[in-house]
Amino acid sequence: MGTILEIQNVNKRFGGLKALDDVNLRVEEGHVHAIIGPNGAGKSTLLNCLVGRLVPDTGAVTFDGRSLIGQKPHVINQMGVSRVFQTPEIFEDLDVLQNTMIPALARRDGAFKLNFWNGLSTEAEIRDMALATLEDMGLADDRNMLAKNMSRGNKRRLEMAMCLVQKPKLLLLDEPTAGMARADTNNTIDLLKRISQEQDVTFVVIEHDMHVVFSLADRISVLAQGHVIVEDDPQHIKGNKKVQEAYLGEAHA
Ligand code: ADP
Ligand code: MG
Repeated sequence: MGTILEIQNVNKRFGGLKALDDVNLRVEEGHVHAIIGPNGAGKSTLLNCLVGRLVPDTGAVTFDGRSLIGQKPHVINQMGVSRVFQTPEIFEDLDVLQNTMIPALARRDGAFKLNFWNGLSTEAEIRDMALATLEDMGLADDRNMLAKNMSRGNKRRLEMAMCLVQKPKLLLLDEPTAGMARADTNNTIDLLKRISQEQDVTFVVIEHDMHVVFSLADRISVLAQGHVIVEDDPQHIKGNKKVQEAYLGEAHA
């Protein structure tokens, strides 16, 4: 184990607005690391800086010993970073299994060209990987269903499966349970927890729902006005005065 992701002195401005203000954050390999904070704190901006969607003005981002600054999004993905967006990006007219195979096929072919992939998997192997991932996400019984016919919660889970099938080293989740019913949320928490324990993957989770945060996270960073004001273990975050102050006025705090 050790540090898999390190963010050092990252700054990002939008015109006169300092969206990220000297952000420092270190994610340990194998952890579920939650990033919480009120609306407008800079959470999405930070995530965008990790996947090549935005480039920080200054600072360093190191993943698995390599700098992510200036890397193209698809290259970052080939390096082993996947991201689940807030709205599911799935192929509505394809079935669940086909959806799950596509990113693995794409990553295989792209990674092969970039020499990141040591063994080229066959389509049959990728199908098996996709089925195993669907099993992990509780979707195996739905494998022949068209994606458009799935519930919203299952669509989100399918999107997670589409990331996990690529065997990422780091999976970034932007509010993974948003819009899910409570039972579905709890089910997803359990699935993610098990995957975190059993597989070689680190999670960074942006989350508003404190129930999800405290059920899942090994470590929590609190972002407020573009700055990490606290980083600590969940049991120390709960009663932290700085954190409570940062959330004052937030309806969902
Ligand atoms: P969060 O995800 O924590 O709610 P964001 O990272 O989306 O916060 O936004 C942080 C701040 O930066 C907010 O004040 C937001 O309005 C601003 N912001 C985000 N993206 C842009 C952009 N592309 N252009 C200008 N301002 C932006
Ligand atoms: Mg956001």
